[in-house]
Amino acid sequence: MTFLEEVKSLLVEAQRRPIEIPKQIQKEFAKDCLTAVHKQFTDKRESDFRIRMSNVGRPLCQLQMEKKYATDSTVGYADNYNTKLRNLYGDIIEAVIVMLLKTVKANINGLQGKVKLKTKYFDIKGTYDIIINDKVYDIKSASSFSFRNKFSKGFQSIASDDVFGYLPQGYLYAQSLKKDFGGWIVINKETGEMLITEPPQEDYKFKREALRRASKNIKALMKDEPFERQFELKNEKFGRNETGNKVLGTVCSYCQYKHKCWGNEIQYLPQQQSKSVNPTYYWYVELNNPRSVESEKS
Ligand code: SF4
Repeated sequence: MTFLEEVKSLLVEAQRRPIEIPKQIQKEFAKDCLTAVHKQFTDKRESDFRIRMSNVGRPLCQLQMEKKYATDSTVGYADNYNTKLRNLYGDIIEAVIVMLLKTVKANINGLQGKVKLKTKYFDIKGTYDIIINDKVYDIKSASSFSFRNKFSKGFQSIASDDVFGYLPQGYLYAQSLKKDFGGWIVINKETGEMLITEPPQEDYKFKREALRRASKNIKALMKDEPFERQFELKNEKFGRNETGNKVLGTVCSYCQYKHKCWGNEIQYLPQQQSKSVNPTYYWYVELNNPRSVESEKS
């Protein structure tokens, strides 16, 4: 049985009868939860931009923006209140998984360890999540959408659209420890389902490409290469037809620098031709075909 299958059968067992979680493991879980609270609420924040293993694989344009506005507290922060809670859930879910892995006596060789790797410019640092059976794993809590449509579809699916830089992150941790990357232990935070998304046995090409992406971004940031958007506007469609409006694509819509990047005139509006009671909202950059007065009245 794999370590995740052991965890799943423990959870099934826990529905039938009380199970034993050793006191020491419970104490460590409580400590991890408190650490998560401190991390999300009370710990001092870094004010400088730092290239880390966890961010280096993100789109270069976002990193350039982050670097440029690092000391401007008015830019780059999500002002929605739920981000903090979402991050806290993520940290606590991670602590739960670690507690369960310890309870089933998974062969854990390292936990939350600090690592660094020499680059041409500086030592890049990071903190890996867990080493099991001598492989480095990252623990991710995922929405139902990303659990079903990304992680369940396998390693290739993440690799083909890796806007969060998950591959460079995982391979940099593994490289710094001279171990193999085992993939992601993923928990659907809405349903509690779990899976492991593993790299293929022959993952050399993925590793090479991930490390190459990290080096390219490091070089561009260290040399202050000119800013270039990595994403284009989308021609909006309603049904099968183009509306003539231009909207931000998914990555830009969620980017904290979209106003700096596309201008303060961008507008978050309901789909302009939709008559639905709950229309989808988009970030409009060019509004050439706005909602007509008739459709407002109807
Ligand atoms: S808004 Fe889009 S193009 Fe601009 S920095 Fe963000 S991700 Fe890059």
